[in-house]
Amino acid sequence: MIVVPTFAAARESSAGRVGLVPTMGFLHEGHLSLLETLRPQCDTLLMSLFVNPLQFGPTEDLARYPRDLERDAALTESVGVDVVFAPDLDEMYPEPPATSVSVADLAFRLDGERRPGHFKGVATVVAKLLAGLQPDIAAFGRKDAQQLAIIRRLIADLSFPTAVVGCPIVREADGLALSSRNAYLNEAEREAAVALSRGLMAAADAVAGGERDSRAIEAFALGAMASTVGVEPEYAELASQHEVSRLTELDRPAFLAVAAKVGPTRLIDNVHFDRDEAGFVADRGIRLTAPSVLYAGSGGI
Ligand code: AMP
Repeated sequence: MIVVPTFAAARESSAGRVGLVPTMGFLHEGHLSLLETLRPQCDTLLMSLFVNPLQFGPTEDLARYPRDLERDAALTESVGVDVVFAPDLDEMYPEPPATSVSVADLAFRLDGERRPGHFKGVATVVAKLLAGLQPDIAAFGRKDAQQLAIIRRLIADLSFPTAVVGCPIVREADGLALSSRNAYLNEAEREAAVALSRGLMAAADAVAGGERDSRAIEAFALGAMASTVGVEPEYAELASQHEVSRLTELDRPAFLAVAAKVGPTRLIDNVHFDRDEAGFVADRGIRLTAPSVLYAGSGGI
């Protein structure tokens, strides 16, 4: 595995079918599952590591976002990454970008409403990574459901020849979705945070039992969050996977998305509902059997 700082060096180090996993580093098993998914599907496995300032709002956690390049490099070795592309700010944005990518409508709902400019920053950096690294295939997590929908749309709209794989959410044994931001949680917050996934799983149970009304489905998620001390729900919404439009009933592939503040930390989670022959099936994600040793619940940093 080599670490390279420039687009040119990353391209020069790539041969054959190229797979890309974009990340902001501080890796956990969620990131590793994306890498493991792509490993057998490509010749060169590339991971980008860049904390993208464009996608952070002025009051968000850019400065304190956790970073540990050395540890990340060792973890990428363990899953067979060939090249880590770790550009500095000058390589990524030699000048303040005059060009940006804005994916209309999809980016203005849910988190887009609450984090103005966030998805424009995400779409712009992903477009740059696709243009600069020219991957044949790229993997993104379902953890960021709206982001995944936006990336699929920007790839279709701008005719990038990159195939997209959406990967299941990796969860702690108790259900908490892994996130680099879990490292901010103290012990009490870590315990409270499980309310997000608990509500989502209750909603998934209701769907399995035949519930299709979005308000009723959302109520399971909201109820679990609202009844947990230390959790301040922001929203629970059932949205279509393709357009990210709010649904009144579950009648197409969808995801139930939640956002909440747990102490000062904002967390998101979701469960996807995919179609199968019998109707809808919930993607409840993948549970670790033992607690993640990679930062989650590490007592705050
Ligand atoms: P980030 O470093 O947070 O930008 O995430 C990089 C990629 O990892 C994105 O495609 C995320 O959706 C994905 N990801 C983050 N957390 C998880 C998780 N718990 N399970 C699966 N994928 C994840």
